[in-house]
Amino acid sequence: MRRKDFNRTRPEGRVVPRWTVTLAFATLSVGLVACAANPGTGRSRRGMSEEDEIAQGRQAAAEVEQSMGFAGSAELNAYVARIGQRLAKHSSRSHLEYEFHVVDMKEPNAFALPGGYIYVSRGLLALMNNEDELATVLGHEIGHVAARHSVQRQAKSRPWIPLQILAGIGGAAASVVSPALGSAVAGAGQLPAALAMASYSRKQEEEADRLGQQYAAVEGWDPAALASSMDALTREQQLEGGGDPYRRSFFDSHPTTPDRARDARAYAETLSVGPTDRIAIDRSAFVGRLDGLVVGESARAGVFLDRRFLHPELEFAMSFPAGWEHANAPTAVVARPEDESALLALQVAGEGDDPMAVATQFDSEIPLLERSGLEEINQLPAVTGVARIVDRRQEIYLFLAWIAKDGLVYQVLGAAPASRWSSHRPRFEATARSFHQLLEAELREVHENHLRLVEAGRGETLSKIAARSGSQWSPAKMAVANDITVQSKLSGGESIKISKRERYQTAP
Ligand SMILES: [Zn+2]
Repeated sequence: MRRKDFNRTRPEGRVVPRWTVTLAFATLSVGLVACAANPGTGRSRRGMSEEDEIAQGRQAAAEVEQSMGFAGSAELNAYVARIGQRLAKHSSRSHLEYEFHVVDMKEPNAFALPGGYIYVSRGLLALMNNEDELATVLGHEIGHVAARHSVQRQAKSRPWIPLQILAGIGGAAASVVSPALGSAVAGAGQLPAALAMASYSRKQEEEADRLGQQYAAVEGWDPAALASSMDALTREQQLEGGGDPYRRSFFDSHPTTPDRARDARAYAETLSVGPTDRIAIDRSAFVGRLDGLVVGESARAGVFLDRRFLHPELEFAMSFPAGWEHANAPTAVVARPEDESALLALQVAGEGDDPMAVATQFDSEIPLLERSGLEEINQLPAVTGVARIVDRRQEIYLFLAWIAKDGLVYQVLGAAPASRWSSHRPRFEATARSFHQLLEAELREVHENHLRLVEAGRGETLSKIAARSGSQWSPAKMAVANDITVQSKLSGGESIKISKRERYQTAP
């Protein structure tokens, strides 16, 4: 099978998969730091020139693209960009080259990077019910860029995924093995630096709300729609937000107030709205554009089916030890037993078809105690080895396997303290030796949920529609996504958004 174009082309033209060892998220400091402007001088308080701001934004944008990736069809992205560009030309910084993208994030979110890079998540799009909502949210983000809002770093950063792999043996072993590996495994639990736990102030939110509403109004979109977007976000947060401290959605970086939606409605009343020129003329045209959008977890970057990890785009599968907890993070797939006495990480260690070259490179950094010759793991060229490191007086053994497939060399790393090495080594080895080319039958097991539309019948309720359509969303979630209530009786003919479980389709 040939390689799919799932891989992202980086600015320098190298093709790198979504998770790779080369990204050191933890050490990147660029981000939403746009620096407040000093009016009149055009320079920020920190003396950052616009040129520097754009350069910083570009770097962060490359990181967002690589670590999160984009979502939605080319048509949908072009649609979002068309709306964004119409708004941006009314901002006080209309000379910036704005970019608009749909980002592959299941939570509802939108964010802006310095220099004019603006993103809306697929999770937020799925909640929207008309173009005016989209326009006001994009306008809000443009407002942050226009006003050069700086973000305030929160004192405490929370991990992105619910697996504290940094703790104990994992982080220690990984950081000693090589700086790149260390930061990759460390980064496995982190948000991309571009989203590094930063938030605007309430005052900045208010300013961005107003600016966004102004831009939307001039272009003929209803500025009051910002309020309905906020309502949708609030309803979603109430429904989904509880119990998961790792969730990152809009209000984490854009703090809200109880009166925000009311204020937005009141402010909208004061604006004069230009002639209507919507691209999607009504609700049904708008939600029609969302048809097919992935909702919930995306399978594009691989999925766990129990202890098996299947990657439908890179076309491989590997089985982790039974009973271990695992996570699929942007830079690595990681797993560990409940007692945290070991760590397994699967990463991309290099490009090419020669696992020996990668093993030799590793050996030059950490001497290998044992190294196999060139062998095969399920018909794929491979090299295995063992290394020992001492970290904080603790002796840690590493099992390594490098496996070449389709132009990438994968690294399976198992780490355990000396006292647990003999019991864990067979598990590490078995894990590495389970790595294989994805089978057709396995590909057929990979599913994800897509936003689909069903036409409501006269007098139907959401529960009825959920039952007949097989919606994976509960009626409560459908109510939020469709901006109605669970009790609503539909008049018939409405396009109702549902979430449908469908077999994963690889990129054409
Ligand atoms: Zn904001």
